[in-house]
Amino acid sequence: MSISPQEKAEFQAEVSAWFTENRPADPGYLLPQSFMEVGTDQQFDFLRTWQRKVYDAGYLGMAWPKEYGGGGKDQAFQDIATAEMVAQKVPFMTNTIGLSWAGPLILNMGPDAQKEAYIKRILSAEDIWCQGFSEPDHGSDLGNAQLRAVRDGDEFVLNGSKIWTSLGSYADFMILLARSNTETNTKYEGLSYFLIPMKIPGIDPVPIKKLTGEFGFTQTFFDNVRVPDSCLIGEEGKGWQVAMKTLTFERAVSGGQAGGVHSMQVSTDEVVEMARHAMRDGHPAIEDAIVRDQLVAFMMEERGLDLNNQRDKIPGLASEWPGSIAMARKLTNSEWRRRLNQFAMTLQGANASRYVGDDGAIDGGRWQRGYFNAFSGTIGGGTSQVQKNIVGERVLGLPKSE
Ligand SMILES: Cc1cc2nc3c(=O)[nH]c(=O)nc-3n(C[C@H](O)[C@H](O)[C@H](O)COP(=O)(O)OP(=O)(O)OC[C@H]3O[C@@H](n4cnc5c(N)ncnc54)[C@H](O)[C@@H]3O)c2cc1C
Repeated sequence: MSISPQEKAEFQAEVSAWFTENRPADPGYLLPQSFMEVGTDQQFDFLRTWQRKVYDAGYLGMAWPKEYGGGGKDQAFQDIATAEMVAQKVPFMTNTIGLSWAGPLILNMGPDAQKEAYIKRILSAEDIWCQGFSEPDHGSDLGNAQLRAVRDGDEFVLNGSKIWTSLGSYADFMILLARSNTETNTKYEGLSYFLIPMKIPGIDPVPIKKLTGEFGFTQTFFDNVRVPDSCLIGEEGKGWQVAMKTLTFERAVSGGQAGGVHSMQVSTDEVVEMARHAMRDGHPAIEDAIVRDQLVAFMMEERGLDLNNQRDKIPGLASEWPGSIAMARKLTNSEWRRRLNQFAMTLQGANASRYVGDDGAIDGGRWQRGYFNAFSGTIGGGTSQVQKNIVGERVLGLPKSE
């Protein structure tokens, strides 16, 4: 399937008009910047309603199979719709874990029963998903997961805890990696992967407060939680392989995500605007030649990252090192975003110490909040150091780290 230039142009015009007309009004309270910062019922309800509206209009899951609630269309349509959401800076799709990693995983390897049960409800935001991978002592070292899953007939009994569960307070389902066998030769054996309901006896998500004062994730406790073995995805004891597949979706190394924007984007243009009115030494910061030089460097990098993402979609331009752009993307994009927010703060002089809610905070303190929250992207889904190891080993062919 491919779409003609005319179809493309017509769809572009349609989708642009729809988002212009239907974008939600500013709710008058602070919205989160990504699915990792949804901390109040008000924010959650607003974002869930918005995702539902976008799905009902047909602009989400456009390339997912029709029989499970998708649009059954060419991926190019979804790419156009997603690019328009980014361009119009509309609020993000809050069910990120469902749309971008649980959903593609279920479509890729789940039985029909799981596809029928979950896919449409992920798209419509009727079911919100979270991810139970990290544990208090095992984050990067995911293969060491210790939450126990003990088989009891055709059920499993879960005990232990997961941590940093984004959307843990709101989720209806969790993708969960647990240890079902302790007598194995390596830590990677004996893990099993489950799709479990969250609102059942014994599961207790306890909110954790962030540096920003917001609540976005939980420590999620499991106390004798019983789930049927139909919650398994993949074979019992082969959870590591399923987790690795999930990470390829999470880090966008594999395609198949439902589309839609998943965090509020920042651009260098916005920092330029801010530099026009942020005063330093009695002058707007933009009047400083060194500041302008640095802004140009950020713009060039931003353009380079964007072109690289586009290049990745053109086989003739990306085939030399399959997957290499995608593997580097999480690292380069999240670090760029963190540095841009940090730079925006340095332009504010003493005002940089003012935060959201403080009188006189430049742009309402959004850059300070953005800076703190930008660390999420450099840690969640694999830290920058771990991503560097991956790029070093799998793209550059360097020896494996010990
Ligand atoms: C905002 C946010 C949201 C998150 N959401 C979720 C979620 O929804 N579900 C979930 O399961 N988890 C989630 N996480 C957890 C995240 O995946 C882990 O924090 C991350 O994998 C790192 O694990 P850790 O915190 O245990 O740090 P550690 O693994 O203890 O790492 C500590 C430091 O050591 C470095 N390090 C570790 N191993 C190596 C190595 N081999 N080589 C070089 N350096 C190394 C790390 O880079 C880091 O700097 C979230 C985290 C954040 C910040």
